[in-house]
Amino acid sequence: MNKKWTIDKIREYVAKNSESKLLSTEYHGFSQKLLFKCSCGQNFEKTFTKFKTNNQRKCEVCVPPRESR
Ligand SMILES: [Zn+2]
Repeated sequence: MNKKWTIDKIREYVAKNSESKLLSTEYHGFSQKLLFKCSCGQNFEKTFTKFKTNNQRKCEVCVPPRESR
């Protein structure tokens, strides 16, 4: 099952599964970085794979990339 993502589906996914918003208007593939707007108002770039699979659904201010506890 190879789900094909389009920019519309991604926008919908982002809206349903996070507090962030998708700003990018084109999607060219997994390696492309998409532009998001975090709920705090900050813009951030991330591949959709990272957003979805690694649960990186906020900007690096809200969720620092290195979680050291
Ligand atoms: Zn944020």
